[in-house]
Amino acid sequence: MAIQDTPRSKKILTFMVVLFLGMIALTIMAIYLFQERMISFKCKQRMQVLGDALLLYAEENDGMIPVDMEMFKRRNFTGRNYIWQCPFVDRDHSKVSSWDADFIFIQNIPNLNVMNEDDKKSQILFYCKPTNHIKKQNFYYADGHIETKALKEE
Ligand SMILES: [Zn+2]
Repeated sequence: MAIQDTPRSKKILTFMVVLFLGMIALTIMAIYLFQERMISFKCKQRMQVLGDALLLYAEENDGMIPVDMEMFKRRNFTGRNYIWQCPFVDRDHSKVSSWDADFIFIQNIPNLNVMNEDDKKSQILFYCKPTNHIKKQNFYYADGHIETKALKEE
């Protein structure tokens, strides 16, 4: 027996279509958010490697953060210049030859040896450019921890 074209069956059909579209939208959103979290995690991993190298440098140089970042990059990361790039920025890393970093380094950081733990906890060493990520941004602090903060709405 064919389904009768009654107002009731139309309502149910409409409801089913809306439910289905809603579920698709939610699934796409979940995948999107998951991808963003994964890439943000990868960005943090690269920042950790960089930051740890910076802190090690400071430890070996009386608390000073390298002034010449170009020299520091070339000395420590030859062949791994992808480390300076945020994975959010879509590019072919095999073709990247420049040492342009996606991270912004704070200038004139005080000597780490004269800073106390609280100062270090609040002193940003570098951060990922705000245009790289979609909703959040990563910051590396002088005590070696990384914070993810929501981007400010314009
Ligand atoms: Zn990033």
